[in-house]
Amino acid sequence: MSSSSKKPSHPQAPATRVVHSGRAPHDNFGFVNPPVFRGSTVLFPTVEKLWKRDQPYTYGRTATPTVRALEEAIAEVEGGVASALTSSGYQAVSTAILAFVKAGDHILMVDSVYQPTRKFCDYMLAKLGVETTYYDPLIGAGIAGLVRPNTRVIFTESPGSQTFEVQDIPAIAGVAKERDIWLLMDNTWASPLYFKPFEHGVDVSIQAATKYIVGHADAMLGAITSNARAAKYVAQAKDLLGVCPGSEETYLGMRGLRTLATRLAQHHRSGLEIARWLEGRPEVARVLHPALPSHPQHALWKRDFLGASGLFSVILKPASQQAVAAMLDGLQLFGMGFSWGGYESLVIPFDATSYRTATKWEPEGPALRLHIGLEDVDDLRADLDAGFQRLNAANN
Ligand SMILES: *Cc1c(COP(=O)(O)O)cnc(C)c1O
Repeated sequence: MSSSSKKPSHPQAPATRVVHSGRAPHDNFGFVNPPVFRGSTVLFPTVEKLWKRDQPYTYGRTATPTVRALEEAIAEVEGGVASALTSSGYQAVSTAILAFVKAGDHILMVDSVYQPTRKFCDYMLAKLGVETTYYDPLIGAGIAGLVRPNTRVIFTESPGSQTFEVQDIPAIAGVAKERDIWLLMDNTWASPLYFKPFEHGVDVSIQAATKYIVGHADAMLGAITSNARAAKYVAQAKDLLGVCPGSEETYLGMRGLRTLATRLAQHHRSGLEIARWLEGRPEVARVLHPALPSHPQHALWKRDFLGASGLFSVILKPASQQAVAAMLDGLQLFGMGFSWGGYESLVIPFDATSYRTATKWEPEGPALRLHIGLEDVDDLRADLDAGFQRLNAANN
């Protein structure tokens, strides 16, 4: 199905490709969307074909047309040569790392990484005899000083989870290339649209598709997209680890992808508007949003990124835990919970001082991570404004 989707006669914009990639309506009786293939067993018509595995699909775990269609679409939109779907973003992280390391190897991991990725290194990689060194997200080309003869992988995530440091990916890519080290990136914040990893020297890009690709908080899904050099290692790891996304989840990822460009543009606008408003609030010490000129790596963000998503953090001025609870417990539109990237607004308190090891994180007061959803911005502002009034009342 996917191989027969019409190739564009001239380069098309990302907003067009998210709509048209990975589907071929006239292979499916003209229906706009491809069907969901649910399946384990795939039948072979002859013994010879079975012996030679001579057909496009051989077993449900390996691939279905539904999975291949979304893999092809994500690879195209993100700019890689191949993509491998996984059953969660976390599984995309673990599978991608395991594709490139063996016992005795060393990996460089950014200190601002998504916390479960850290857990994977500290427990699973340690158990397998792979050593992890955490590094300062702002290290840039200085990462060369941490490279050892057995360093196999440099793992990046930009901006950092919760704290939003922007990494100099091209500078790190220069070192990785020179020393023949695989460069992996968790590109979930920007989605495949707002950062082009392969144009900046990344070998493997990870998406927690659960976030903006699915986009509606109704499924778990991940994607590992590779350049030509890395693709076969990722495909092999996916096969050996038995990684197999669900058919319904894959379809929901495909459905989410179709509106990704439109949703992200709105998340960008609304997020920035709320971030600017928060910057002017007397209760706020700092807003950590890469698209604000006040962000310490704003210039890097402007150089490398094509937009901002709806996720950022604020550091409040010192306030009691009860005051923060009074603010958050009474919010009507902002939900409290993990994950993000759906259509709805979220807020979560966090404490990055508890897990950093290579760098110090010293907030002036309580820290909140916000996801700005697709609600009306004035309504969101009013909800937060009422929250600040509860905070002030409880703090005095
Ligand atoms: C959520 C998230 C993940 C993990 O994705 P799941 O689908 O929740 O397993 C990985 N990386 C980042 C940056 C995330 O935000």
